[in-house]
Amino acid sequence: MAKSITNFSTYSTLNCHKAKYAKPWNCFIFFRQSPITCLLSLNLDVPRSTKVGVYPMLDENAKICKFCEVGDLGNAVELLKMSQKSELDLNTYCSILQLCAEYKRLQEAYFKNGGVDSAHKLFDELGDRDVVSWNSMISGCVMNGFSHTALEFFIQMLMLRVAVDLATLVNALVACANIGSLSLGRAIHGHGVKTCFSREVMFNNTLLDMYSKCGDLTDAIQAFEKMGRTTVVSWTSLIAAYVREGLCDDAIRLFYEMESKGVIPDVYSMTSVLHACACSNSLDKGREVHNYFRRNNLSLSLPVSNALMDMYAKCGSMEEAYLVFSRIPVKDTVSWNIMIGGYSKNSLPNEALKLFVEMQEESRPDGFTMAGILPACGSLAALEIGRGIHGRILRNGYSSDLHVANALIDMYVKCGSLVHAQLLFDMIPEKDLITWTVMIAGYGMHGFGNEAIATFQKMRIAGIKPDEITFTSILYACSHSGLLNEGWEFFNSMISECNMKPELEHYACMVDLLARTGNLSKAYKFIETMPIKPDATIWGALLCGCRIHHDVDLAEKVAEHVFELEPENTGYYVLLANIYAEAKKWEEVKKLRERIGKRGLKKSPGCSWIEVQGKFTIFVSADTSHPQAERIASLLNNLRIKMKNEGYSPKMRYALINADDLEKETALCGHSEKLAMAFGILNLPPGRTIRVTKNLRVCGDCHEMAKFMSKTAKREIILRDSSRFHHFKDGFCSCRDFW
Ligand code: ZN
Ligand code: ZN
Repeated sequence: MAKSITNFSTYSTLNCHKAKYAKPWNCFIFFRQSPITCLLSLNLDVPRSTKVGVYPMLDENAKICKFCEVGDLGNAVELLKMSQKSELDLNTYCSILQLCAEYKRLQEAYFKNGGVDSAHKLFDELGDRDVVSWNSMISGCVMNGFSHTALEFFIQMLMLRVAVDLATLVNALVACANIGSLSLGRAIHGHGVKTCFSREVMFNNTLLDMYSKCGDLTDAIQAFEKMGRTTVVSWTSLIAAYVREGLCDDAIRLFYEMESKGVIPDVYSMTSVLHACACSNSLDKGREVHNYFRRNNLSLSLPVSNALMDMYAKCGSMEEAYLVFSRIPVKDTVSWNIMIGGYSKNSLPNEALKLFVEMQEESRPDGFTMAGILPACGSLAALEIGRGIHGRILRNGYSSDLHVANALIDMYVKCGSLVHAQLLFDMIPEKDLITWTVMIAGYGMHGFGNEAIATFQKMRIAGIKPDEITFTSILYACSHSGLLNEGWEFFNSMISECNMKPELEHYACMVDLLARTGNLSKAYKFIETMPIKPDATIWGALLCGCRIHHDVDLAEKVAEHVFELEPENTGYYVLLANIYAEAKKWEEVKKLRERIGKRGLKKSPGCSWIEVQGKFTIFVSADTSHPQAERIASLLNNLRIKMKNEGYSPKMRYALINADDLEKETALCGHSEKLAMAFGILNLPPGRTIRVTKNLRVCGDCHEMAKFMSKTAKREIILRDSSRFHHFKDGFCSCRDFW
């Protein structure tokens, strides 16, 4: 009974999204505390609500810094104005600037850039400004994320003919790199050559980094080659430049070249090369690098261990990631996040949830943890656990993080609670492309094609350009609601308006749409005229259509394509067998069974699960091991009798051979989704919605019974199968028997 659910990657659309948009785990931005304020906080103990003038014993600088330390910008500025400018030192200005920067971050709609502007003004009023004070202002701005302002200071400095030094140029180059200002960066390069600073290693390293971050790999390489002396920093910058351009193999090659030149790798070069392996999705190369670290006794510091885990997780080897993880003596939040997110992305939701529980004993989860664990809840349809996590997100104030909010919407969609997804979606003031796409895909999965279209149009009005994944989602929505004309319009607009080349998944949606709506021969022609080679999924979509519309002849033709492309996939043989069975072609069913038998194909067992009070109960086909098995069976028998009396005839053909189970079944009632639904009726309070998830497609008989159950038991039943959601209510299903 206690089977673990290990694979549920049906909604590949959103999985792609995750992979494409995943935030780098290590990308945390902290506001640095300036050294002066740290120092003061050790020596002084000042209450928060102090007014100007209460520290007679301290000099003006210390007083101002103290106000800055307690976050009192108003008093700090007030005191600054009252002070004799000659008495103030630069650290004081830096402290105020630091505070302005922090206020800008905390109260963006109030201070705007005013905070920096006033610091700017104050600095302008300062009389004797030497190169050191200019440099401090510039580096203060760069450090606090005001690179534009830093460059304004730099230009002002040049205009006033203040002699710049190495530190000035280095800081200005960093500012150029931060905002991607290649032209100014080049000008500074020229200035460096003129003033002979280009002989300095530090200048050259920063220059290389600037070219790399501005996307000019050629000049980055040139800067590297012209360097008289290279250090590990230069090599690392160039490695990172290659990774940034997606040239991961070159990055890895460069790492070994560095080693051959006798340069010992540091933490940054080690993490960069691992990042290259992760980006190229090359497990072999990643392992090789790991072995290299071991052979050379390079110490695995925490960032390197985290990068190793990240590499293994991205290359799909969670076992090796865990091995590294288990050997870290003191793990940080990033370590836990990589593992939890890795399990989620690699379709191991149970492992993700288990580790999430362990984490809470040792470390504090953050917003990244939440965004990492939510997909696991989604893939298990674990609504109650997901809700619990939502509660924690609200209590900890992570809900304003768009990354977390998007993951929440996605979780609610996949757990079958479209209402919650919609509510959250409406509450997000500034939605990004992922927010819109998740909602469009959500409406599609639940069979609300028109709502998906309306959302797509609202997104366009909001000025957001759809990408390939958005188009997959909207085409999927059209196909699952039978919206043929609309589907064509979107497909055409993708090419004509958005200049995108449709990919396999877009063609698959269109074939699916044509096939479902009965345009079988059109679908066949459409596949034949495709500019790219169709894969088994595309032919498979047509095969499904042949089943819906009972076209045995075409099915045979299509099936041969499918079998040729994916000879090992049992599902397609079963599908054809069902088509034969439904046409009562028993001879053909027998032949096909023999063919399947010879291949020794494994059937994938059908299972369904239901969450009751945060606990999962999993049922397999004809499961009699459950303690409530007898009660479940009698409930289903009674229902069957009632159904017969009301004129429902059991769909016997599904019992002969069906997608869940190749074995003949004596009882129709044995399917796992029926057992789970019956268990829900018996164990959930009256009126509560029953939510069941199945790993395969729901069969026709179970679908009929679910409709009947929703009417007689007066319950809403939401069934998620491998293809979509079915909302059963008052004897009807949202799919309108069309799936
Ligand atoms: Zn069934
Ligand atoms: Zn349905």
